[in-house]
Amino acid sequence: MQFKQIAGQAAVKQKLINTVNDNRVSHAQLFLGPEGSGGLALAIAYAQYLSCEDKQPDDSCGVCSSCRKYQKLAHPDLHFSYPFFAKDKNDTALTFIEQWREALLANTYLNLDIWRGYLDAENKQANINIAECHQIIKKLSFKPFESIYKILILWLPEYLDKEGNALLKIIEEPQPNTLFLLVAQNQDQILNTILSRTQLVKIPALSYEEIKEELIQNHHQTEFSAAEIAYLSNGNLTEALAMLQQENKSYHTLFVQWLRLCFSNKGIEVMAFVDQVSKMGRENQKNFLRYGISFIRECCLLMSGAGNLVHLPAQELETAQKMTAVMTISMTQAISTELEKAHYHVERNANPKILFLDVSLQIIKVLNFKTLPQGTHYIPN
Ligand SMILES: [Zn+2]
Repeated sequence: MQFKQIAGQAAVKQKLINTVNDNRVSHAQLFLGPEGSGGLALAIAYAQYLSCEDKQPDDSCGVCSSCRKYQKLAHPDLHFSYPFFAKDKNDTALTFIEQWREALLANTYLNLDIWRGYLDAENKQANINIAECHQIIKKLSFKPFESIYKILILWLPEYLDKEGNALLKIIEEPQPNTLFLLVAQNQDQILNTILSRTQLVKIPALSYEEIKEELIQNHHQTEFSAAEIAYLSNGNLTEALAMLQQENKSYHTLFVQWLRLCFSNKGIEVMAFVDQVSKMGRENQKNFLRYGISFIRECCLLMSGAGNLVHLPAQELETAQKMTAVMTISMTQAISTELEKAHYHVERNANPKILFLDVSLQIIKVLNFKTLPQGTHYIPN
């Protein structure tokens, strides 16, 4: 993870980079900020920067061997500790490392609830148990393998039991070039003994503008919907992304329904669909079309064998895989062009009923190889 991939927080990023330039990297730091402010992402980007073999003035290079391993969260000198739901007293964070990488690569702004969703948690309490504390001590007793630094990122030290005190000695006198980056949300719930041994990196909540900007730049949102979500999320990007996913979920269902109707060329049902969409309002129509464009793009990537670049939630991915079986790359390109055109026309206040009917007919044509006479446009009465 590079700094430039993280929303806002310009001042914190600069401060962290300065610690490296001024050669005053503290060996135990506490990243403290509210949920959705990006503490975990910043700690990872900082660790990647520290280990980068070709540091740039404002970020890690992103391409050196260290950066590439960091980007997969699989560098041998990067360790994670986090709360989990132990089934066995010998379970440690390492037991769940695969799920952790998956969760974190999907969303660096995850919270404990999202993390719980990746685990078979039942009703168990999350914590960082004594077995994990011993594991940390063991892991950090070795010298770094490849990088200058061996770094442990401990997410939510609030969940360390009293047993966390087992870590005090290693936090206070770690091996040379060993760093502890703790990422917390509630200062009151951290063991005082640990608090007093770490240097504080304060992370403020994101501003309305920072969240809005992130949603527009990296999540295909229009100015209008980004503003709405930014307002409702109250500085919490985790919350904003959850709202977005909720919205995408309904667009996904609607979009797939539309393609199915077009594919089976069901005239009356297509008309009913057009009716429904034309009542959605312009901003929703634009978001719906943008969703369709990005979904089709992901389908195209899947078909081109670039599945590793696809970032879709599990259910949407499954649908995309099924759809790629009945489409060709040229079909996805043709559909994408139609959607782009429709988006252009919605922005310019085209009549939604005429527009969506026309796009539907074009998509029917693409999906069914049927040739309508050139320039045919069906206008409802
Ligand atoms: Zn690098």
